[in-house]
Amino acid sequence: MESSLCGDCAICVDACPASAANGKPWKAGMKREEFFDAFACRETARKLSRERLGHEETICGICVNVCPAGRKGRAAAGVKDQHG
Ligand code: SF4
Ligand code: SF4
Repeated sequence: MESSLCGDCAICVDACPASAANGKPWKAGMKREEFFDAFACRETARKLSRERLGHEETICGICVNVCPAGRKGRAAAGVKDQHG
């Protein structure tokens, strides 16, 4: 894959509690910092899991869960979503 297939979608950008992704479309060769703040992602996931689960996780997974492209791919592969 050489570029993002997201088009006008910004579901994960809007759903992220850390505002980690800025919505800039990814393409091969881009630096991660140009479109994604991995430190904001990790720190927010740690904080929320500490508060809500009583232990730390380094990813909350909301972005993965809400992505329609990911859902379609999982469905095609026969993988059932556990939530939603
Ligand atoms: S894992 Fe959670 S905090 Fe990190 S980018 Fe995805 S939605 Fe945002
Ligand atoms: S939810 Fe999926 S398709 Fe939509 S912008 Fe995020 S990664 Fe792209």
